[in-house]
Amino acid sequence: MSIAEDYVKIRNEIPENVVIVIAAKTRTMKEIEEVIDAGATDIGENYVQEAEKIYKGLSPEKAKQVKWHMIGPLQKNKINKALGTFDVIQTIDSFEIARAIDKRVSTHGVVLHPAEAGRVWEIVPVYIEVNIAGEKTKSGIAQERVLELIELMSGLENIKVEGLMTMEPYSENPEDARPYFKKMKELFEKAKEIKMPNVDIKILSMGMSNSYKVAIEEGSNMVRIGTAIFGPRN
Ligand SMILES: *Cc1c(COP(=O)(O)O)cnc(C)c1O
Repeated sequence: MSIAEDYVKIRNEIPENVVIVIAAKTRTMKEIEEVIDAGATDIGENYVQEAEKIYKGLSPEKAKQVKWHMIGPLQKNKINKALGTFDVIQTIDSFEIARAIDKRVSTHGVVLHPAEAGRVWEIVPVYIEVNIAGEKTKSGIAQERVLELIELMSGLENIKVEGLMTMEPYSENPEDARPYFKKMKELFEKAKEIKMPNVDIKILSMGMSNSYKVAIEEGSNMVRIGTAIFGPRN
C-alpha cells in the first residue's frame, strides 16, 4: 500500500478524538508531502535541524497546514531554532529546560518561518516526557516527580503544560506495554486535576506503530506513528 493509503487506513480504524502525529524522522520531503496531502494534521520530528530543513523546503501553505511536534530530546542550545519550527514541544523532562524555553520567549519572542514573519510566540505549548519504565537509556522524568515538575512549571508564564508523553520500552509484543500505558493513564488523570496557572493537561501522547492499538485501549488520545505508515526505516 502507498503512504497515503496506509495513513487513511489507520485514520479510519482509530477513534476520531485520537490525534495521529506522523513520526517523520529520516523520511524525505516527498514522503512527508504525500502524507500531508493524504490529510495528516500533525507531524513529529526528532531533530531540530532535520525538521527545519523539511519545514522550509515545503511550500509555506503546506508547512502551515499541519502542526509540528518536537518528539526528540531538546538541547538548550537548540531552543531558538526549535521555536522557529515547532508548534509543540513534547519532550520536556526537567525544570531547567522548561525555564530556558520560558526565558527565551519572555526576553525575545521568536519569529517563526519567514512566511510568517512578524508572528511571535506568546505561549509555547509543551508536554512532559515521562520515563515510565525507569529505563536508564531513555530520556524523560521519573513518574514520581511528574506532578512536582508540573507545579514548578506553573510559575512559567510563557509556556503552557498541556500534556504527558511517553515512549514505552521496546518490545515485539505490544501487550508488554499495557502495564506502562495503564500507569501513564493514572498519572494523566492526576495531572488533569491540577488547577494552576499555565497548566491545562488534556493530551496523553503514547503509542507507536506496533503499540498504538493497546495505547488507545488504555486511554491514549495521541499516537505517534512512523513505520506503519512509511514502512521500515533504513
Ligand atoms: C520514531 C518515533 C516514534 C514512531 O516509531 P514507529 O515505531 O516508527 O512508529 C514515536 N515516538 C518517538 C519519540 C519516536 O522517536
